[in-house]
Amino acid sequence: YWPLPGHGFAVSLSCLPLFFMHLRNFHSCWMHEGLKPRKSRGTLGFPFTTVLRFMQLLLKSVDFAARAHRDQRRKGAAQEPYINHPIEVSRLIVECEPHTGEDILCAAVLHDVIEDCGATRDEIAACFNDIIADIVLEVSDDKALPRDERKAKQIETAPNLTSGAKLVRLADKVANVGAMLTDTPVGWDERQILAYVDWAEAVIAPCREVSEGLSDRFDAIARDVRIFHQNELKEAGK
Ligand code: ZN
Repeated sequence: YWPLPGHGFAVSLSCLPLFFMHLRNFHSCWMHEGLKPRKSRGTLGFPFTTVLRFMQLLLKSVDFAARAHRDQRRKGAAQEPYINHPIEVSRLIVECEPHTGEDILCAAVLHDVIEDCGATRDEIAACFNDIIADIVLEVSDDKALPRDERKAKQIETAPNLTSGAKLVRLADKVANVGAMLTDTPVGWDERQILAYVDWAEAVIAPCREVSEGLSDRFDAIARDVRIFHQNELKEAGK
């Protein structure tokens, strides 16, 4: 239905209804794929403008995070760009909890920008909103503290996190524990990896209540990581 060369302006205009029909179809497909609320009453439930606003905010957060993490790499041998991690965290949330709101998904994309890139809570609040900024702040470690203290604090503070922050925390640990199989941090030995899984399990214990799906994913990946690295230990006779 695109206007052909030689056809006039009137033809172009006559294409508009078809074009909008196409947009609406695209909207329908997209909603069915990812965003349809669980307890749908048979309608899509979201006006098109809401979906557009959602996409704009989410892409803005991806853009913000990509720039903030531009010089960082993951710890694995593959040296993946760091941004792959926050994108994975938000994907895990939307896969397991498809009805999650835009603020939590954006906070998932931005979850490491305070801790790792020196962004501030107020900067995020100014660019996005207070809800997103507060979730990111909640899941950020205080880098001024020694590593062991920071790790202990994550276990200590987990029960008091808001439900949005618990969701981000849980997905973050699913992604990080998964990386212990797919892209093991360079220089980590089996004992260190197994200790990391134990610690992550302790951190997410109070967060399980916010998502059965993510909790199941954590259990499955933690089991695989443990089996694999315990075997490696045995084979090495350690
Ligand atoms: Zn993270």
